[in-house]
Amino acid sequence: MAQAKVTRVVIVGGGISGLTCAFKLSQTEQFARGLLHICVLENRSRFGGIIETKVVDDCIIDSGPDSFITNKPQMLTLARELNIESRIIAVNKENRGALIVSNGALVPLPPGFVMLAPSKLSSFFQSSVLSLRGKLRTALDLVIPPRKELTDESLAAFVRRRFGQEHLDKLAQPMVAGIYVGDAEKLSAAHAAARFVAMERTAGSVIKGLRVERKELAARDLKDESSGARYGLFASFDRGMAVVVDSLLAALSQPNIELCLDTTVQAIAYRPGQSERFSVSSSSSQSWQCDHLVLATAAKVSAGLLKDVDANLSVQLSKINSASSAVCNFIFERKDIAHRLNAFGVVVPELEMLAHNLSVLAVSFASVKFARAPQDKVIVRAFMGGIKRDSLLEKDDQQLIDLALADLAKLIGLSGRPLYQAVHRWIDSMPQYNVGHQSLIADIENTSSVVGLHLGGAYLHGVGLPDCVASGYKCAESVSRLLAQEV
Ligand SMILES: Cc1cc2nc3c(=O)[nH]c(=O)nc-3n(C[C@H](O)[C@H](O)[C@H](O)COP(=O)(O)OP(=O)(O)OC[C@H]3O[C@@H](n4cnc5c(N)ncnc54)[C@H](O)[C@@H]3O)c2cc1C
Repeated sequence: MAQAKVTRVVIVGGGISGLTCAFKLSQTEQFARGLLHICVLENRSRFGGIIETKVVDDCIIDSGPDSFITNKPQMLTLARELNIESRIIAVNKENRGALIVSNGALVPLPPGFVMLAPSKLSSFFQSSVLSLRGKLRTALDLVIPPRKELTDESLAAFVRRRFGQEHLDKLAQPMVAGIYVGDAEKLSAAHAAARFVAMERTAGSVIKGLRVERKELAARDLKDESSGARYGLFASFDRGMAVVVDSLLAALSQPNIELCLDTTVQAIAYRPGQSERFSVSSSSSQSWQCDHLVLATAAKVSAGLLKDVDANLSVQLSKINSASSAVCNFIFERKDIAHRLNAFGVVVPELEMLAHNLSVLAVSFASVKFARAPQDKVIVRAFMGGIKRDSLLEKDDQQLIDLALADLAKLIGLSGRPLYQAVHRWIDSMPQYNVGHQSLIADIENTSSVVGLHLGGAYLHGVGLPDCVASGYKCAESVSRLLAQEV
């Protein structure tokens, strides 16, 4: 009897997207029957991509992402499939909320403020962040009719239209810069403010939409509390985000799975009609032949790799910009910080950066957010760079540290020297979902005629970790589907 053919899948990129794809493929019937060989090729000398956790003096410090949103279920599903659900931790109950720099000082974001807009006008009116005129303009959202056109617009245009310029400058811009390290004038409202754009359409006003959502959440919270399955909006893992990477790697340590580090894929050849359609070669002249190729790399990397495979697709992919940022991680003695640290972090409006000569876009009090350090220590993470300030990244590590420390002295009354400091540079790591991104991605996903090519990663349908997990799942499903058709 003829032996069944083993299908070879190569996954380029060992970040969360690529590893999730490999894991999901390893759970298929084809893999269980020995009909699938999976190979993950990773450029760095460790897996995880932007996810990296270090433990220093009993402090757990993430260099990249430190949490994930739970209202998108994919990370929770992955944790369940990896048997690490019990290792998920919720954010601390105390000191929830964020601070914002206003006139050079830290003030709380108005209670009930949700990323771009207030859900409780009473507390919003008590806040000092906007002038009375600015607050009244925000409240006009209740009566301004929804925009008729359904075309995409910039996030800045959306906020200006609904809430006014002061609201954009002092509240919305810093919140968005903190998340996307992007430019509100270019970011797509349909992506960066999808929920709020939908509220404008369905409830006629964002504030009204948020009120409806608040009531629904309160009702759901009551229900969830009684079922006991609740983490709150953000969660992490007990030993940092690397827990999920380590668990994926443990699950992938089995025959028929090859995990290759220090392997920079440099060229791909496509040979349609042949049984192993792709030839993938690395900078060290090694090569892998495969039937299915998953590219779980940044858009620009994928664009470069596909130049000779599908020129049109490569051009489309190269249109997606990404921003670079630096994270300065510190451990301080608690006694060296004067501020109460009664929040999870700080966002800094661009106006304040200019007026007070500040360099940080945002600061996270990581050990206030999660139990991550002994009582007498504090983990502080300072975020710098982004699409509008990427020239900062030309500075060397010590210069970035010095700038961050100077800002922390001004903002939280830091007096001592750090017990630990480290700079992590994330170059071209945050894809920018600019106006028109959705139609560009639709083009990318619909135009490729390369059989067996599957695209994954943060530039497609969301930058958050659950989105990347979803993209890994989707790539695995698309490989499986094609395999089933080919049998
Ligand atoms: C500073 C920062 C903080 C963030 N914080 C959060 C957060 O708190 N919560 C959240 O949900 N999201 C956060 N994000 C977003 C999230 O971390 C990323 O979107 C996600 O980790 C991307 O995963 P990925 O696997 O798609 O890409 P990556 O992690 O970038 O993985 C791609 C991999 O491909 C490899 N590679 C590249 N070129 C090649 C090549 N030629 N050959 C072989 N391998 C190659 C790279 O080395 C890399 O390991 C943050 C992002 C940044 C930059």
